[in-house]
Amino acid sequence: MTDLLDVIIVGGGFSGLAAAKTLHSQNKKIILLEARSRVGGRTHTRHLPDGKYVDVGGQWIGPTQDRMYELCQEHDVTWYETYNQGKNILDLNKTLRTYTGLIPKMDVRSLINIDFVLKKLDRLAKSIPLDKPWSAANSKTWDSISLEAWVRKHCFTSDCFKIVRAGLETVYACELNEVSMLHALFYIKSGTNLTCLLSIDKGAQQHRIKGGMQTLAEAIATPFLSHIKFDSPVKNILQQDNRVIVSGEGFSYHARNVIIAIPPVLISSIAFTPALPLFKTQLLQKLSMGIVGKVFGIYEKPFWREKGFSGQVVADEHAPFQTFFDSSPADSAYGVLLAFCIADRARNFFSQEEGARKKIALEAFSKYFGKEAATPLHYVDHCWADEAWSRGCYAGLYPTGVWTNFQNTLAKPTDLIHWAGTETSDIWYGYIEGAVRAGERAAREILN
Ligand SMILES: Cc1cc2nc3c(=O)[nH]c(=O)nc-3n(C[C@H](O)[C@H](O)[C@H](O)COP(=O)(O)OP(=O)(O)OC[C@H]3O[C@@H](n4cnc5c(N)ncnc54)[C@H](O)[C@@H]3O)c2cc1C
Repeated sequence: MTDLLDVIIVGGGFSGLAAAKTLHSQNKKIILLEARSRVGGRTHTRHLPDGKYVDVGGQWIGPTQDRMYELCQEHDVTWYETYNQGKNILDLNKTLRTYTGLIPKMDVRSLINIDFVLKKLDRLAKSIPLDKPWSAANSKTWDSISLEAWVRKHCFTSDCFKIVRAGLETVYACELNEVSMLHALFYIKSGTNLTCLLSIDKGAQQHRIKGGMQTLAEAIATPFLSHIKFDSPVKNILQQDNRVIVSGEGFSYHARNVIIAIPPVLISSIAFTPALPLFKTQLLQKLSMGIVGKVFGIYEKPFWREKGFSGQVVADEHAPFQTFFDSSPADSAYGVLLAFCIADRARNFFSQEEGARKKIALEAFSKYFGKEAATPLHYVDHCWADEAWSRGCYAGLYPTGVWTNFQNTLAKPTDLIHWAGTETSDIWYGYIEGAVRAGERAAREILN
C-alpha cells in the first residue's frame, strides 16, 4: 500500500514554498514536486563565473508587502535600498532630457494630462472590491474595454500617451490592449495604488534582497528540503476514493489533498481525472501570460552615479526598452544596469540572435550613459516567455470579459485540489508577496 501523505504541493515557487512551510510547521506529511532543478520559479538569481550575480526574475519588495519582510526577518535575509539618486533620463521622440522624481520634464499640457490619468486610475481602482472585482459598480463596462481603450480616451496629447504607455507596460508586462480595464484597476488596488506600483521610494521597487531573491527562496525551503523532489514535472492528477494520486515520469504519490501552485497557463498541461469543471477549463484557455525580458550590463563600478545619473530611464516606442534601473548589489562592488524589455518590444528583441540583441542593447546603454556603457564585463539577457515552466511573466493576465464571466473560478477549490500561485491572490496579485499569501491561504484551507 502506497504511503498516504497529507498534502502534495505542485510547484516550488514562492507560493508552493509558502504552502509547504505552513503545512510542515504543523507537522503535516508533505511532498513538494518541482519541475525544475531549483526552487524560486519566476524568481531566479543567476550567478556569473566571477561570482557576480543578477536577478533575472522578480527582485524587488516594498511597503505593504508585509509577509516578505517578515519572511526575510525570520530567515535572517537582509534587504537594502534600491539606488535612487540623481538625474533620470526621458527618451521621448528621439530626444533625451533629464529630470528628477517620478514625473518627467515635459510641456505643461502633457504634464497635467499625465497627472490627471494616473490620479483617475487610482481613484477608479479604489472602488474595486478586491475579493470580488466583478461586483464593482461599473465592472461590466470596465470589463468590456481594454486598458488601452481607456488610456487613449483620457490622454489628450501624444506625449502623455507615450509616457503613460511605457509606465503601464512596465507595470503589467503586456501591450495595454491585452488586458481588460477591470483587471488593470483590480491590479492597481491589489498593489496598494499606482504611485506605489510605479515608485522606488515608498513603492514596489524600494528594496532588493542582499545576495539576490533566490537567497530567500532557498532559506524558506531549507527546513523541508528533504521533502522536495526536483526535476519532477507533474503530468497526471487523479482523484479517487477520497485521495489524490499525483504522478509523472517515474513517480506517483498519494495524498489526502493537493495544492497546485503553478502559473495558470501551465495547468492545462496536467491531465486531470475527473476533468476539471467546465468553468475552470474555459477560464484557463483565456488567461495568458505577459512577456518580459530583463537585459543587463554588468560593469566594474556603477560609473553613471559619478556622472550624476540615477540609472533610470523611461523611453517611448522608438527605443528597444521601456524602462531602466540601477540594479547594483548592496555594497556597489560592481555596477549593474537593468533594462526592461516588454510586450511587442520584447517579442521583436528576443526574436533576434544573441549577438544582434547585445549590439542593440549596448547601443541603447551607451546612448543614455556614455561610452563606458558599451564595454560591460558581462552582458546578460533573459526572456521568461522562453521558459517551459513559466511561459511568460510577470503573471497571468485577464483580457476583456473574463473577470465578469468567470469570477473567482481560479482560486475556488476543486474537491481535494486547492489552488495557489500569485494569480489566486487578492493582495499583491502578480507579485511575490501575492504568491506567498496565496500559498499560505491554500494551506489554511486544508488545515481548517
Ligand atoms: C522578469 C520578472 C520580474 C519580476 N519582478 C518582480 C519584482 O520585482 N517583485 C515582485 O514581487 N514580483 C516580481 N515578479 C513576479 C514574481 O516573480 C511572481 O509573481 C512570483 O514569483 C510567482 O510565484 P508563484 O509561486 O506564484 O509562481 P512560480 O514562481 O511560477 O512558481 C511555480 C513553480 O511551479 C513549477 N512548475 C510548473 N509546472 C509544473 C509541473 N507541471 N509540475 C511541477 N512543477 C511545476 C515551476 O517550475 C515553478 O517553480 C517578476 C517576474 C519576472 C519574471
